[in-house]
Amino acid sequence: MASGILMMIYDGIGDRPVKELRGRTPLEVAKTPNLDRMACEGINGLMDTIAPGIIPGSDTGHLALLGYDPFEVYTGRGPFEAAGIGIEVEPGDIAFRCNFSTLEKGVITDRRAGRIKEGTDELSRAVNGMDFEIEFMFEKGVEHRGVLIFKDQGLGSGVGDIDPHKEGVPYLESKPLSHDSKDARTARLLNDFTLKSIEVLSEHPVNISRMERGEKPANILLARGSGTVPYIRPLPERTGMKCAAIAGIPLVRGVCRMAGMDVIQVEGATGGMDTDIGAIYRRAKEAMKEYDFVLVNIKGCDISGHDGLAREKVEFIERLDSELKILEGLEQHYIAFTGDHSTPVPVKDHSGDPLPLTIVGPQVLRDDVTSYDERSCVRGGLSRLRGQDLLNVLMDLSGHGEKFGA
Ligand code: ZN
Ligand code: ZN
Repeated sequence: MASGILMMIYDGIGDRPVKELRGRTPLEVAKTPNLDRMACEGINGLMDTIAPGIIPGSDTGHLALLGYDPFEVYTGRGPFEAAGIGIEVEPGDIAFRCNFSTLEKGVITDRRAGRIKEGTDELSRAVNGMDFEIEFMFEKGVEHRGVLIFKDQGLGSGVGDIDPHKEGVPYLESKPLSHDSKDARTARLLNDFTLKSIEVLSEHPVNISRMERGEKPANILLARGSGTVPYIRPLPERTGMKCAAIAGIPLVRGVCRMAGMDVIQVEGATGGMDTDIGAIYRRAKEAMKEYDFVLVNIKGCDISGHDGLAREKVEFIERLDSELKILEGLEQHYIAFTGDHSTPVPVKDHSGDPLPLTIVGPQVLRDDVTSYDERSCVRGGLSRLRGQDLLNVLMDLSGHGEKFGA
């Protein structure tokens, strides 16, 4: 019988030497007895999620970890974001990320409409009730965020943004980015849609009462990041495995959903620093009874990396580690511990630095690595591999691989 596979993705865990930590990385400084034990018992290495020096986004990084070539299937963030908030997208749809924003005297004065929290349900309903020449869907996300989908034959995604990406300037007219008539059509539709959204939103009671209270009205939808929903061969079909994902952030959920995985919601998994790590581990362990492959994404390290907060990152890593005993009892399965990209404190953004990778399981060839961190894993038996190969390695180890040839 084949074993199961658990891929534990600590978002943004990799780092560079940090001055404040006297030239060590947060993983080197953090006390991680459980992860270190995994390194001792497992096989270790470094992983370039996409390729050496290529800086992954969380979306392209997870595509690679699921064994897809992101250069082939990635068409922009919009489609994945849309899938992440639960919109049924179909290949060929055009997706945009959107903000409720504030337009005053022809100028965008707040790209987030005062970080509007209430009333966006009503505003979304009004937008979706608009008369428009093609089928479309608008779905609100958290606060001012949302996603717009155009559904029609013959639409291109090569169009410029409406969002000027700064305040104090007018919004942009979307322009086709090629001579293709499909792009020209999408640009025209998007410009029409924007004008209509202004009409519908400006007079909406939610905005009228916001203005009466001296708050910024959410009176325009600024679209950006157009992308065609790609065809992605479903993972269960490609691998023959029953697959699930647990992720706090919609973008990663969207990638997994588009890959045909079941997405499991965990109460308390917020995608923030306050996320309930224990609840996530417990649910992942539970899911291993039902699924052949479970991917878990936990975001915290990425947040402290973006904020440039070394101590916070160290503390979050220690929390990730301290709850790991919950996974005891999964010894017959294969578990990989790694990340989707590095988010180094000195960079305050993602980087192309490789990630430490440890695989534990019944038949792994142990090596001499005794600590889970960027510097120690270099000496491990996996050497250095690409994220796109990781699932194959795990499928081979766990008995889910298929022979190539006779
Ligand atoms: Zn990430
Ligand atoms: Zn990030």
